[in-house]
Amino acid sequence: MGDPTLPDLILSNANIITLDPLRPQAEVVAIHGGKILSVGQNRELKNLTCGNPKIIDCRGKTIIPGFIDPHVHLHSLAESLVAVNVGPQNNVRSISDIQNKIRQVSQELPSGSWIRCGGYNEFYLKEKRHPTRWDLDLATSMHPIKLTHRTGHAHVLNSLALKLTGISKETSDPKGGLIDRDIRTGEPTGLLYGMGDFLSQSVPPLDSHQLEHGIKLANRELLSLGITSIQDASSRNDIERWKLFERWKAQGRLEPRVCMMLGIKAFKDYPKDDFSVKRGKDYLRPGGVKIILDETTGRLNPTQAELNELVSVIHQSGFQAVIHAIEETSIQAACTAIECALQSSPRSDHRHRIEHCSVCPPPLSKQLASLGIMVVTQPSFIYANGDRYLETVPRLQLKHLYPIATLMENGVHVAGSSDCPIGPANPMIGIYSAISRRSETGKAVLVKQGIMPLDAVRMYTEYAARTTFEEKVKGSITPGKVADLVVLSGDPTRLPTDEIKNIQVEVTVLSGQVVWDKSGLAHNPPFEVRG
Ligand SMILES: [Zn+2]
Repeated sequence: MGDPTLPDLILSNANIITLDPLRPQAEVVAIHGGKILSVGQNRELKNLTCGNPKIIDCRGKTIIPGFIDPHVHLHSLAESLVAVNVGPQNNVRSISDIQNKIRQVSQELPSGSWIRCGGYNEFYLKEKRHPTRWDLDLATSMHPIKLTHRTGHAHVLNSLALKLTGISKETSDPKGGLIDRDIRTGEPTGLLYGMGDFLSQSVPPLDSHQLEHGIKLANRELLSLGITSIQDASSRNDIERWKLFERWKAQGRLEPRVCMMLGIKAFKDYPKDDFSVKRGKDYLRPGGVKIILDETTGRLNPTQAELNELVSVIHQSGFQAVIHAIEETSIQAACTAIECALQSSPRSDHRHRIEHCSVCPPPLSKQLASLGIMVVTQPSFIYANGDRYLETVPRLQLKHLYPIATLMENGVHVAGSSDCPIGPANPMIGIYSAISRRSETGKAVLVKQGIMPLDAVRMYTEYAARTTFEEKVKGSITPGKVADLVVLSGDPTRLPTDEIKNIQVEVTVLSGQVVWDKSGLAHNPPFEVRG
């Protein structure tokens, strides 16, 4: 590695927003062995260059720490990148557009092979309703179809897929799930709510070829967006998923640092399975335990008593509980469970988390703060779904929708994430939404909950690092921390708000290596050539 006092890479002539209070602004960052060696001004450059380091002249562009996305679903992202996209971004505006997309794909596939498509949003369909099995049958009856809703929490199957997964008039609703039925005949309409787990067992997974191709695309997407760390929040994560992550890491297919949350089953099996932590280039570590708390069927699942028990076991084992809670009642239930666990076994700095925290009135946010609960939320949902929220969310709830400013004022640590592929993966969209509170069409959603640009950047860096107790390792450009950083085309703290969403990532540096170079700023062949 050479002399540890000499850098092997220097980024100079930059507008560096370090997020380090000891030195908030700088022009030069020097890196050695994957870590930040020093931060300084251009005039200090000549003292750094005697070891003949590689120097990137940033030409005044802005550098911030690499983005940390603390809530993604990597398998679903990979699947969505190889699936047929029937979302509004792909010009799908009606059920017949969906049928046409499927018809096209079906012509190239042998009959019997599964067609996966996703991203539909009934709000943006002309018919303003979910498609049914009968709609999908008109596209093809020779291929089973799994159509995934943009939230990932609802699916539509065609008749052949229903038959293959064993869902019929006689099938009763599984726990936490709902089979939509024709009121007159009782026949399933094909629309399934909260049945992701059921389908993961009955629909064949992507074959290893498709999955690896999907991971390659996902890796490229993450690096091109400057995302150097992810946390995989899938409730189905188990030892098999862990082994897959290990393999992709070893093969260099998945470059960002990965923290894999554990599903309940993996948590229970944890003592016997090998979730060894890997550091360095193959960085992979286990994270908190993911609990989905939902009200799809009209009542809390798991029940309050079950939740209390679960959280208390997780808490006593020294793990973080990571609770998916959207509605006020679920957030309240999550608070109650965490409060019970803390009462019977106090622990400071537990960093239990609530994910999404969508509808949260001020008293509840004060309670979150007093219990030391962190929130990981998705400002980009405002951008992607704002118009729908304004039309469909009841006024009483709309008043408290994603109240990021209030949460922060009350002292809650709030990190930003994408929940991709459910929301757009691009952190700049999240940062823009947290500041502007505007939807894609420019409609305002609770403008007074907008936050300052620097705080919005912190949500995806410094604050996100706290969610895994890693604020001493990453999240700011500070000597001794990992050399994960991004060169941006514009400064999000100075540009007019409207232009922030168009900021591009020019260069991504991960562990001191250039892993993305959009326009050749780092004089390396672009990523496309490398891959
Ligand atoms: Zn999620």
